Amino acid sequence: MVFDVVVAGAGPVGLVLAAELRLGGVSVLVLERDPDRVNPLKQGSMGARGLNLPSVFAFHRRGLLPAVRSAALMWAGDEPPPAAGGGAGESEEDEFLGGGFIGHFSGIPIRIDRVDWADPDLASNGLGGGVIAQQDLLDILLARARELGVEIRFDVSVTGFAEEGGEVRVEAGGSQVSARWLVGCDGGRSTVRRLAGFDFPGTAPEMVGRAAIVDLDDPAQLSTGDWVESERGSYVVGGWQEGPSPRVHTVEYGGGEVDRSAPVTVEEMQASLRRVSGTDVAITKMHLGTRYTDNTRQASTYRKGRVLIAGDAAHVHSPAGAQGLNLGLGDAMNLGWKLAAVARKLAPESLVDTYTAERHPIGAGVQLWSSAQSALGRRDERTAALRSVVEDLLDTTAGATYVVKRIFGVGQRYAPPGDLPFVGALAPDLDLTDGSKLSDHGRSGEALVLGPVPVSEGWEGRVVSLVSRDHPEVGALVRPDGYVAWASASPSPGELDAALTRWLGRP
Ligand SMILES: Cc1cc2nc3c(=O)[nH]c(=O)nc-3n(C[C@H](O)[C@H](O)[C@H](O)COP(=O)(O)OP(=O)(O)OC[C@H]3O[C@@H](n4cnc5c(N)ncnc54)[C@H](O)[C@@H]3O)c2cc1C
Repeated sequence: MVFDVVVAGAGPVGLVLAAELRLGGVSVLVLERDPDRVNPLKQGSMGARGLNLPSVFAFHRRGLLPAVRSAALMWAGDEPPPAAGGGAGESEEDEFLGGGFIGHFSGIPIRIDRVDWADPDLASNGLGGGVIAQQDLLDILLARARELGVEIRFDVSVTGFAEEGGEVRVEAGGSQVSARWLVGCDGGRSTVRRLAGFDFPGTAPEMVGRAAIVDLDDPAQLSTGDWVESERGSYVVGGWQEGPSPRVHTVEYGGGEVDRSAPVTVEEMQASLRRVSGTDVAITKMHLGTRYTDNTRQASTYRKGRVLIAGDAAHVHSPAGAQGLNLGLGDAMNLGWKLAAVARKLAPESLVDTYTAERHPIGAGVQLWSSAQSALGRRDERTAALRSVVEDLLDTTAGATYVVKRIFGVGQRYAPPGDLPFVGALAPDLDLTDGSKLSDHGRSGEALVLGPVPVSEGWEGRVVSLVSRDHPEVGALVRPDGYVAWASASPSPGELDAALTRWLGRP
């Protein structure tokens, strides 16, 4: 059998992409290197990942938000978060929000009560945002992908491939599978990226973070709770970690050039903990350890022939700022429907090229954002001076609101505003004449056409026609990923047909 698409990697990005491809009507095989097992580093607070607005909207549009919310470690709700000190301090959520903080910039906390929640971009959210353990998110995405008919093979690494005669022959687990397209969603050290010869320019790491679940000989030597800062770096012990063995997490600057493929040893973790804590605490046992850096790189194109890359395979940066997962989910939502239409030969291959054109600038913006935070984390005197100025700025309404909007991914868009201000942006959740909301539609990956102009014959099943309650005269095309592709205050059938053909291919 020749699959339409083989996806390397069943991380969050690979699973979302596979589900989107199935919604687009193509056959998908996912190959995952790891056995189907639970990874404690991705569980609980250890694996906590913040979700931004585009991610929350994507889950909402596909009907996954209730599951995501119920598994979330905390959720800031549909209302503006409570003012500082408002939480009861009983649950993790109360502890987080009650502490009065909504996020951070390079470790500088942003106070909830400094943010202007009436800012139009924040006030129009309506869905909230939160933090979820990566393992819980993976469980939800895995169930969803299987439900949609994605075939997933665990314990199978992609080790090579060759493109020939309009197909890609993929070497994996000692055998071969054929596909029309291969997408590498195989993480920051992507085999697909390397073998396909994608370039990966960027800046070398300066910072190393290490996290581990350990037993300590004398835990009383360390402070628990908040991050503890020192000249060499910082550390935190415990936090929200469940179980008898604490989680220790260290961050050090000025030593980024480590062998990132080598496993973290007890000796390495202990040495790091001793350096940042200034103690001689000993680790008697390490149950699990991981390491990350602020290595910042981005492929200059996300496509080479029939091979594409998405998520960490296409871009890596420091986890400061909680953006990597969100960025990758955005890649998957952008690529899925396009690649499905091209694989089904409904749309020309040029549609897939809009994937790099739209996602690369978003990735570059996130890289700047995370690099700025890395730079501000340096331990020299000049950076300390700059940091104190930034601290003052973040204590202002304008500063805190700006940073929170960036963290939430507000304003990420694919085109300059057209005739109407929302072209290129996520479609607002409009009320419709039939009493439903825009987000009640398109669950199966259809595009949405708004307005008085009827859709020509031939688009059935791929397009749903709707009318806005408050602006019935406005015509718009909302793509399957929820972004507005075209809009007009006085739409004509010719304009609508042109927009449909441009974005969805032939009827
Ligand atoms: C400490 C930390 C905190 C973070 N916090 C946040 C946060 O709050 N918010 C946020 O948005 N992001 C956060 N991130 C980043 C986020 O975790 C990543 O960006 C995200 O996991 C990337 O997803 P992915 O699917 O692209 O890659 P991965 O999650 O790395 O998945 C890749 C998959 O591919 C598999 N694979 C690898 N090689 C092969 C192969 N050859 N063949 C087959 N399969 C293969 C791997 O086993 C893995 O399952 C954080 C990261 C770290 C380290």
